[in-house]
Amino acid sequence: MSANPTVQPGVRVEVRGLHKSYAGQAALKGVDLDIKAGEIFVIMGPSGSGKSVLLKHMIGLERPDSGDILIEGKSILDGEDVANRFRLAMVFQSGALFNSLTVGENVSLYLTEHRLKPAGEIARIVAEKLAIVGLQGVENKLPAELSGGMKKRVAIARALVADPQLILYDEPTSELDPMIAITIAEEILRLNRRTGVTSVVVTHDRELGFGIASRIGMISDGRILAIGTPEEIKASTNPLIQKFLKAEYSSNHNLNSQIERQTP
Ligand code: ADP
Ligand code: MG
Repeated sequence: MSANPTVQPGVRVEVRGLHKSYAGQAALKGVDLDIKAGEIFVIMGPSGSGKSVLLKHMIGLERPDSGDILIEGKSILDGEDVANRFRLAMVFQSGALFNSLTVGENVSLYLTEHRLKPAGEIARIVAEKLAIVGLQGVENKLPAELSGGMKKRVAIARALVADPQLILYDEPTSELDPMIAITIAEEILRLNRRTGVTSVVVTHDRELGFGIASRIGMISDGRILAIGTPEEIKASTNPLIQKFLKAEYSSNHNLNSQIERQTP
């Protein structure tokens, strides 16, 4: 299956020696990652380990105390707004929809703010992106009228409007019931295959992580413990990884076996 030729393929991301402290408390203690163009890279670890902080650095929402982030080999910290150079999108944990705006207005925000398209075309693009995540005819609804799973889908549709080269998902299945979590996981896989967008997924949900990852980076207390394929991570003898994999986290059981896996 070839990627859609109208969409640029995903970008490569490098994280180099990233350190970040808040009020003297270290959240990131020297993080290094090489994320390949077009892969689904999962950052997995317990709550409070620095996952969201790391993701915010990758999209330029936070600046490190030291270290660097490179996209396609270029530092995103050298002054020029990263948003002007690459099409990046983030699906926030909460969905972060504007409650006073309709679904259609939420999804089209990027286009209207950047005055990218004539009004007539915007409606068509919004409908197209909503259809990609399996939603139709919800443009005039308010976020409060939607279920948790639908809100996450709208948040993904909104991210897709930018035709991103890099999409970052923060805990995309949290607060969702297991069956809905499966459809969100399938959506992440399908989008990745269809467009070739580099996808970075932060989660503490092991079933999700092992179900969709090309590779996994295990994080604990601001440090990357190991990087590998799901099989390599499962075989890790690192005691912290073993502990995480055995711990009784609330997770979506059987997700792994229910996500339809295909080799790209
Ligand atoms: P998680 O892995 O659950 O996403 P986070 O990346 O949100 O963890 O947080 C890592 C650590 O950094 C936590 O101890 C958190 O309290 C702290 N932290 C994150 N953001 C801030 C902030 N803006 N101000 C102060 N501390 C923060
Ligand atoms: Mg988090």
